[in-house]
Amino acid sequence: MHVILMGAQGSGKGTQAALLGPELKLERIATGDMFRAEIASASSLGVELKAILDRGDLVPDDLTNSIVRRRIATLIERRADGDDVTGSLFDGFPRTDAQAQALDTILAELGEAVTSVVEIDVPRDVLIQRLSGRRVCVECGAVFHAESSPPSVNGVCDRCSGEVIQRDDDKPEAIARRLALYDQQTAPLLDYYDAQGKLTKVDGDRSIEAVQSSIIAVIQLRTTGQGPA
Ligand SMILES: [Zn+2]
Repeated sequence: MHVILMGAQGSGKGTQAALLGPELKLERIATGDMFRAEIASASSLGVELKAILDRGDLVPDDLTNSIVRRRIATLIERRADGDDVTGSLFDGFPRTDAQAQALDTILAELGEAVTSVVEIDVPRDVLIQRLSGRRVCVECGAVFHAESSPPSVNGVCDRCSGEVIQRDDDKPEAIARRLALYDQQTAPLLDYYDAQGKLTKVDGDRSIEAVQSSIIAVIQLRTTGQGPA
């Protein structure tokens, strides 16, 4: 079973991925983590990757795809060896329809396929409200939220007494621009999976638990053809 989780910044995608992985015995595959693991392993791919990132360049698709392929192949081997893992949960990959096609090819070569694609859908104004509450300490980088986890004293870091500010990046106009870019990049990807009949949208403007049960129900429905009992 291979599940792709999609959602804009602030949609709760990272939180859901962290909960769903263990719940469904899916291994979370996030490219950032994967790159760090590959570099730490000092493999030839890792060395190549480190050089690219050190230069500040974007990792080319073919390199990302090779790393994803190895990761999935290893997971399938481990599953065959009796490890308690049912498949993968992709978080932040694929990002483009070219990567989505590459993923389909990789999985097909390994005798598998994408099971389900779930988009956590949150209204734009709610995303902006969630993201614009972010506050950061200029001294130690501690992160607060104006509504859900404010510092004890307004504008003062609990950890180091440094100044807590709202970064320009977290102002509503900048957030709206980032979200528009997300729409632009992911629209072709959503179309790609929708055309395969694999895309389901889940209402993300609810509690973490409610969103989680909806996602699990969708994945189970796709896997077994049966709805929740
Ligand atoms: Zn601080």
